[in-house]
Amino acid sequence: MTEKPPSSMARYAVWYVLAFILLLSIFQYYSAMQQAVEISYSEFRHLVQNKGVDDLTVSTDTITGNLLPKGIDELAKAREKPDLPQTLAKQFDKKKPIFSAVRLEDPDLVKLLAKDNISYRAVQEKTWLTSLLSWVFPFLLLIGIWIYFFRKIGAGGAGGLMTVGKSKAKVYVLDETKVTFQDVAGVEEAEEELKEIIEFLKTPAKFQVLGGSLPKGVLLVGPPGTGKTLLARAVAGEAGVPFMSLSGSDFVEMFVGVGAARVRDLFATAQEKAPCIIFIDELDAIGKARGFSPMGGPEERENTLNQLLSEMDGFDTRKGVIIMAATNRPEILDPALIRPGRFDRHILVDRPSLKGREDILQIHTRTIKISPEANLHTLAARTPGMVGSDLANIVNEAALLAARRNKESVEMDDFEAAIDRVVAGLEKRNRVMNPKEKEIVAYHETGHALVAEALPTTDRVHRVSIIPRGIGALGYTMQLPTEDRYLMTKTELEDRMAVMMGGRVAEELTFNEISTGAQNDLYRATDIARSMVREYGMSERLGPITFERERRPLFLDAMLPPGSKDYSEATAQEIDQEVAALVNRAHQRAKDVLEKDREVLEKAAKILLVKEVLEGDELREILNSRGQEHTA
Ligand code: ADP
Ligand code: MG
Ligand code: ZN
Repeated sequence: MTEKPPSSMARYAVWYVLAFILLLSIFQYYSAMQQAVEISYSEFRHLVQNKGVDDLTVSTDTITGNLLPKGIDELAKAREKPDLPQTLAKQFDKKKPIFSAVRLEDPDLVKLLAKDNISYRAVQEKTWLTSLLSWVFPFLLLIGIWIYFFRKIGAGGAGGLMTVGKSKAKVYVLDETKVTFQDVAGVEEAEEELKEIIEFLKTPAKFQVLGGSLPKGVLLVGPPGTGKTLLARAVAGEAGVPFMSLSGSDFVEMFVGVGAARVRDLFATAQEKAPCIIFIDELDAIGKARGFSPMGGPEERENTLNQLLSEMDGFDTRKGVIIMAATNRPEILDPALIRPGRFDRHILVDRPSLKGREDILQIHTRTIKISPEANLHTLAARTPGMVGSDLANIVNEAALLAARRNKESVEMDDFEAAIDRVVAGLEKRNRVMNPKEKEIVAYHETGHALVAEALPTTDRVHRVSIIPRGIGALGYTMQLPTEDRYLMTKTELEDRMAVMMGGRVAEELTFNEISTGAQNDLYRATDIARSMVREYGMSERLGPITFERERRPLFLDAMLPPGSKDYSEATAQEIDQEVAALVNRAHQRAKDVLEKDREVLEKAAKILLVKEVLEGDELREILNSRGQEHTA
């Protein structure tokens, strides 16, 4: 596979360098010109006669030299500019002022200079072209070095230029991928979803008969260290197929066309090895929003991405090739990548729950001698918010510590010390909650969930969790919509607002205190209220009037004076009052629900605090078991 990156690279380089030289020489030319005081030939002769110049350089068409103080005075007199000496003194600072004059044919000049004893020397004209050439040579040398340097990088050392376009994909033969689901824990849901893929890879023929089309691309999404790479390898291991893995950043190369060539090559190889898995780690490196780079980088990434897209469209799943990819930043991916027929199946690889963490610790302590009194459950309880790689790290640290302390086996206090060490590192990154925070979050999330369950129009609670997700969100309550919605009624909007207020109300009731954790809820609730009043005309007091202009392009909005409105100050006040009333009503409704169900709130929050995750059905069980009717 040969490409022509060096020539295109050189083409870029030549243009850059030429432009640079041009600029430099123009700059040089002008800066030299500016410094000299331009005088006419007659002025020059006048100055020579008055001994006002010295140290002349005479070339074919210009004369330059030093202006003596006497000469400056003469010049000031002749030009009727009495302040010339001061301006020149300023311009030249402490240097000797110089002048330049255009030379005329003047046979007496030499005689004149000799007579007045003025020193002079003749030089050959240094043209613009010669000065340019004196720049070109060193730069050509530089280009040479530059090309040499990048060739070395591109070739990756050994094979030289010819292998630049060859894929670096490592093909893991069957024996090498020994990872199976036995080595992965805490991500049961993801495993479940991947089982279908494994079935398919094991017996592609079975699926061909029916003619159904399988997903081409599976995207594993989740925070770093949750085991996405591990899962992908486990899928290959379970299915017993080759695993070709590549990191997204491998595709992004300096040379134009190399990334695209790599993609082409990768897919060609995969077709030969089918059934197999292509795994692209860090997919965001290829698919992310484009930026600028001085060497054609964005264009290159676009090429690679386009190639990937067209390969994905072009190849036939029935041969048994599955493309998996992983990313922890799905939001920055190019929308084209996640369109149907590409990476359309998304699998969430989330942070493990308490049980999950215990299982992960179990896996990583398999090869380690741990003392019988060590309790993995306790350890799991001490590590909320941690991911698989953190736990693997803890086990490893603990083993090292125990060895340093000359112990027979790894004991509980080694683990504790290792946790402290890892936690200290994570705390810096804001990923671990203290117990008090955890408690507040547990009540807060339970509050949301109970209000959602109590109100008639809201979606059922799917899951409540206090495992931190990303920065900012400390816990979450997941509601599953039962249908796609295009229209929402006023009641639905009000119910939704009440659910949002539920978190804060639970905090108020339990702790008589409120935290900053509800900020986003309040923001969203207020947003809904504002839309109800201003856009949807849902306020009784103001009537069916919309106060919202049509949305216009942002830059136009920015050009309007701030705060310009279509309505009067008085109306604005009324709108504010109505928004506040709506929010307060939602707050009261949430309060009514939760006050009635205080014991359930207590009970569910306590369970959540321990288990960290509460499924919707479990929550409904608690609700129903209090022996009261609560059907929505
Ligand atoms: P990701 O790709 O999501 O960033 P990795 O798969 O690279 O995470 O995980 C790094 C290491 O952490 C793995 O090799 C494994 O040792 C450990 N690990 C992570 N998640 C798990 C898990 N769910 N079960 C067992 N080990 C895990
Ligand atoms: Mg990874
Ligand atoms: Zn909340």
